[in-house]
Amino acid sequence: MSEPALKPDPQTARAGVLLPLPLKGAYDYALAAPLPRGTLVQAPLGGRESLGVVWGPAEGALSDARLKMATPLDGQPQLPEHLCDFIDWVARYTLSPPGMVLALALRSAAAFAAEIPQIAYIATTNTPPRLTPSRQRVLKTCADGLARKIPAIAEEANVSPAVVRGLIACGALKQVSLPEFAPFGVPDPGFAAVPLNDEQNNAAVILRDAILAGSFRTHLLDGVTGSGKTETYFEAIAEALRQGRQSLVLLPEIALSVQFLDRFAARFGTRPAEWHSDLSQKERRRTYRAVMTGEARVVVGARSALFLPFPELGLIIADEEHEHAFKQEDGVIYHARDMAVVRARLENCPIILSSATPSIESYVNAKSGRYHWLKLPRRHGAANLPAVHAIDLRESQAEAGSWISQPLREAIAATVSAGEQAMLFLNRRGYAPLTLCSACGHKLICRDCSAWLVEHRYRKRLMCHHCGYETQTPPACPACGAEASLIACGPGVERVAEEFAAVFPDARMAIASSDTLHGPTETQAAIRAMAKGEIDVLIGTQIMAKGHHFPQLTLVGVIDADLGTADGDLRARERTFQLLQQVAGRAGRAEKPGLVLLQTRNPADNVIHAMTESGAGGRDRFYDQEITYRERAGTPPFGRLAALILSGRDSALVQNAGRTLAKAAPHARDVKVWGPTPAFYHLLRGQTRERLLVQAGRNVDVQAYLRTWLSAVKLPNAVRLTVDIDPVSFF
Ligand code: ADP
Ligand code: ZN
Repeated sequence: MSEPALKPDPQTARAGVLLPLPLKGAYDYALAAPLPRGTLVQAPLGGRESLGVVWGPAEGALSDARLKMATPLDGQPQLPEHLCDFIDWVARYTLSPPGMVLALALRSAAAFAAEIPQIAYIATTNTPPRLTPSRQRVLKTCADGLARKIPAIAEEANVSPAVVRGLIACGALKQVSLPEFAPFGVPDPGFAAVPLNDEQNNAAVILRDAILAGSFRTHLLDGVTGSGKTETYFEAIAEALRQGRQSLVLLPEIALSVQFLDRFAARFGTRPAEWHSDLSQKERRRTYRAVMTGEARVVVGARSALFLPFPELGLIIADEEHEHAFKQEDGVIYHARDMAVVRARLENCPIILSSATPSIESYVNAKSGRYHWLKLPRRHGAANLPAVHAIDLRESQAEAGSWISQPLREAIAATVSAGEQAMLFLNRRGYAPLTLCSACGHKLICRDCSAWLVEHRYRKRLMCHHCGYETQTPPACPACGAEASLIACGPGVERVAEEFAAVFPDARMAIASSDTLHGPTETQAAIRAMAKGEIDVLIGTQIMAKGHHFPQLTLVGVIDADLGTADGDLRARERTFQLLQQVAGRAGRAEKPGLVLLQTRNPADNVIHAMTESGAGGRDRFYDQEITYRERAGTPPFGRLAALILSGRDSALVQNAGRTLAKAAPHARDVKVWGPTPAFYHLLRGQTRERLLVQAGRNVDVQAYLRTWLSAVKLPNAVRLTVDIDPVSFF
């Protein structure tokens, strides 16, 4: 799969240089001397200088005279060969311009600039001529021999910067230079090893051996929630550290990383390096450099960390591998879990996919033996899996406008009075998902999208969750003009919280959703408050459902367990099951037993059935049934899918382009093309959207098929075509 190292032609010193731009491929440049693939250069392009990377031999027949000159950066930094191969691979697989994939790997252009030494001061043996009390304080502060900057000295000694400067002038303090960044801590594999139980140990031994073998293999760490998957894969990281290899841990969401960082520090004595979109430019530069020099031994990151320049990667872990957040949905559209497997193969290192509810794809690969299947069927220690019961809302119907049924209310009351915690789960932000006119039935939808406006009562706003459009609730129906006729339909977390507060006025309650918690800091604060027992009942969306460990949480109530099963795409049921399992898995993680109550109108449904059946048997039966459906339908992993999405402001043009595209689809064995059809959200951010779906047999080279097809059609410039290989979202 990986291509041989492509060396620029030494006779002429020309090379193909890839620029981080949406161009077809590398551009030819002249070089003063041949440079190896991966070398970072400065390359002129259209009157500007661009960062670029030597990619391979020059292609064109351009005479040397017309070639522009590219120059290597100071110190000749170089992307590792494996990363270059990975970029080519991802570009080919996703049908993206390679420069766009390169841009993912050059997220910190500043990382390549020379180190900026920092000026600091230390005390000398010279005594100043006048020894005022402030001067004495400064000398006392500096007596520890540590180098500090002027403001730091002034602050610590409680003097003005002028006093410090005076001491510099008379030679009592002298200048030293410090490295620009404090070094990353070195994780210690032996810092605080945890004794593993037998099952964990069996898995850990296999993973350690995999690190020692140092070759590509995919391991599925399949363990129930609370079984100690993290403790187990920490042992693989420990071994990689001992072997002098870097490790990468991919988490689907940064919100999940809080507890992870603490746990990592408890096990290895220092925090790992972090990589995600919330880093400042400076942190980005620091981390990128440390990864590239090998100083950062373990990196925890979101999907973009997959494109970091690790020189000696020895292990990749994708935690909660089934999470759809691993799918990047714009720009270069890729699935970070799948691409992580590819990167591990190119690096020739093991990869661990970890989950309590693996994706059907990974489950099938484990069953067939392609992936090595490691099972942790029991919770660690005294903790047992929670009991799961359905509450049939058709029997225990709460009164209209009420979302917490009587049995659930009773369970909450019992939990809170026992001093334990509960979580109410509803995967819907805001107050109400729909606002409707009771006079004419008109539904309030977004100005720019074919989506309902969601009422957010705290913010007194109607909001579109797709484009961010917001407006005030109008006093009258915009369609029929009836006054005070608009009514809220259905619940969001805010509405459940409103009802909860009315029923349990004394309970300490918090709402956790992405718009009540602003940013990672507030989310982390809420997680910590919950873990410390400062909250009795947490009412939240999926941001609280995942990965967290709340020892006092014994009751989980799912407000609407049917939500999601009706989405109608091929993964809707799988996704609902995974989410319910994740939420359920928060209950009873310590000594006290957990209870999960699922409010449903459809208790006979397979998803609910699999949830309430005890043991792993229920889960595996559910999976096997889903696998049968997919096998019959020829859907992934038994067939391949690719979506083509056309979008543009001019709806007639977009629809026309859809028809033109469909007509041009080549006939091929084992390939079906569906559509064009208007997308579910046929209007999004003012853009009309049409979709086509390619369904192909497992052995079809879908990329080759698409390349042939798409190269034969010329679409109008005002219509944009997006290719989504292995789509997970069908909207
Ligand atoms: P999972 O990732 O499978 O949900 P965790 O690794 O989060 O499980 O473990 C659940 C809880 O059990 C954590 O608090 C963890 O520290 C604890 N735990 C797991 N294994 C052990 C062990 N061998 N010794 C002590 N505590 C453990
Ligand atoms: Zn909108």
